[in-house]
Amino acid sequence: MKLFAIFGDPVSHSRSPLMHNSVFKNLNYKACYTRFHLLDGSKLRETFFNLKLNGANITVPHKEAAYNACDEIRGFAKKVGVVNTIINEDGKLIGYNTDADGFMFSIKEFGDIKKILILGAGGTAKALAYRFIQDDIDVTVLNRSQNRLDDFKDITHKCYTWDNFKCEKYDLAVNTTSAGLKDENLPAPQEIIKEILNNTSFVADAIYGKLTPFLKLANEKKIIYKDGADMLLGQGILANELFVNGELKKEDIKTYMQKSFKL
Ligand code: NDP
Repeated sequence: MKLFAIFGDPVSHSRSPLMHNSVFKNLNYKACYTRFHLLDGSKLRETFFNLKLNGANITVPHKEAAYNACDEIRGFAKKVGVVNTIINEDGKLIGYNTDADGFMFSIKEFGDIKKILILGAGGTAKALAYRFIQDDIDVTVLNRSQNRLDDFKDITHKCYTWDNFKCEKYDLAVNTTSAGLKDENLPAPQEIIKEILNNTSFVADAIYGKLTPFLKLANEKKIIYKDGADMLLGQGILANELFVNGELKKEDIKTYMQKSFKL
């Protein structure tokens, strides 16, 4: 029996156990997926080995700590320095990032997106920003504070805090902050959010399972929006493929993961 887990703080809201266990159970794959409330990201590696895990997902706020916990980083994660999936390969921790491709999967229905405003500058924002520029999408980043914006200098010159933000027209504005996850905060002061909503065609939120204050405002303004559920599904399918190492078909993984959203 293989064992997987998700690490985060908070982690009780996470749907990942339900999603992955639905795949394992329905496809008779001998594995179990649980959750672990990790307060200190620097303890990730030792906790992973203490629990004798075969693999794990990592959520807020430990994705950068997860990058540092790995012995080897593969693929897109190398570029962004942010890891959301870890595989135990013969005692070595291999890190991947499946969030950004998961998000691209989720916005397909918006059609041709050329200009995106990212709210937030954390791990998810960085992964998305790198992924967007791969597709030649024009990227602007708006964050509460300056510090993390320094990480975006190689990606875009359009990096703002709330104090110096210059709003343009966007195809999509996406909230990657954790504002609205455990509280009822907007990702920026209300007057800035209203200006953004007056200037964007679509809105997305990485948070799932609730209508955040950001999405509520978008809804009031009749802007087409989506929460983070499809992003979650997209990253989950890609992570599960890594967990089972080719032993299950992607279409089957998708079918049973999708079913878990109806539970
Ligand atoms: P990080 O901790 O790396 O970054 C958090 C960001 O949010 C920072 O930019 C921080 O700004 C900002 N922030 C936090 N609180 C507030 C606030 N009250 N007002 C404005 N800005 C705030 O988090 P992650 O990037 O790992 O995750 C961000 C969110 O995305 C989480 O809610 C997570 O659940 C969600 N997520 C969803 C996924 C899905 O599959 N649907 C996948 C990945 C993430 P500052 O720099 O000023 O501190």
